[in-house]
Amino acid sequence: MTKTILITGGSRGIGRSAAILAGQKGWSVGVNYASNKAAADEVVEAVIAAGGKALAIQGDVAVEADVISMFEQTKQLGRLDGVVVNAGIVAPASKLMDMDSDRMRRVFDVNVFGAYLCAREAVRYLAPSRGGNGGSIVLLSSAAARIGGPFEYVDYAGSKGAMDSLTLGLAKEAGSENIRVNAVRPGLIETDLHASGGQPDRAQRLGATAPLGRAGTAEEVGESIVWLLSDASSYVTGALLDVTGGR
Ligand code: NAP
Repeated sequence: MTKTILITGGSRGIGRSAAILAGQKGWSVGVNYASNKAAADEVVEAVIAAGGKALAIQGDVAVEADVISMFEQTKQLGRLDGVVVNAGIVAPASKLMDMDSDRMRRVFDVNVFGAYLCAREAVRYLAPSRGGNGGSIVLLSSAAARIGGPFEYVDYAGSKGAMDSLTLGLAKEAGSENIRVNAVRPGLIETDLHASGGQPDRAQRLGATAPLGRAGTAEEVGESIVWLLSDASSYVTGALLDVTGGR
């Protein structure tokens, strides 16, 4: 069955891969981005070339008016069936004792407040009691939620722990509305995220220590996201799915 989905941070990395895989299924995809319009436009073209429909939607997930607007714009693609709460950031590696409050506030604003706002809008749009048709919400947590991110980013790790809690709570709240809520917890995945934290070689360097002996690809995470959005996972909710190569 074709679906209409919104992916926050769909313009690069894991969100980009999920968008293109959804396009290969013929789905319609809202591709949210923060500032890199060229990257979002490239994903829109790739989704269309793969057989789907797509729309680039600018908006900062940490700004409530932007989040409300991005869901409104998704209506152009059809009634919403799924949302991937994916946009997330890291900051340069640091011990907690050396972190300034601006950095911590931005990490929590985007990764926690932004994710909660997006999840709230998602249930508002998907709930049959509000005119929706049920659906699937996929949250991007991280293996960091259970490892803790020591010496690099315990702020980020905590923000991802919040994704696990949100998944567990919202899955219980939204089940009676036929909304499934699951988290994907990637391990070390080759994307630009690590360079944005000042460690461009991080995934390859640490990925070698995973049981599978390598970093993962954005496509490998995208596959799990699209499965959780699809009807193939129709009895899966409240799950935290590790995609970590065994890490
Ligand atoms: P990425 O390659 O750095 O891409 C981040 C995406 O999020 C971009 O599309 C970016 O848009 C968007 N974005 C950033 N801040 C935003 C904001 N405030 N509002 C809206 N969009 C925003 O990241 P990634 O590696 O694909 O990570 C995706 C998710 O997976 C994140 O939640 C991350 O924490 C999680 N994750 C990643 C890894 C990993 O190893 N890569 C591991 C575990 C979990 P612009 O291009 O416009 O900036």
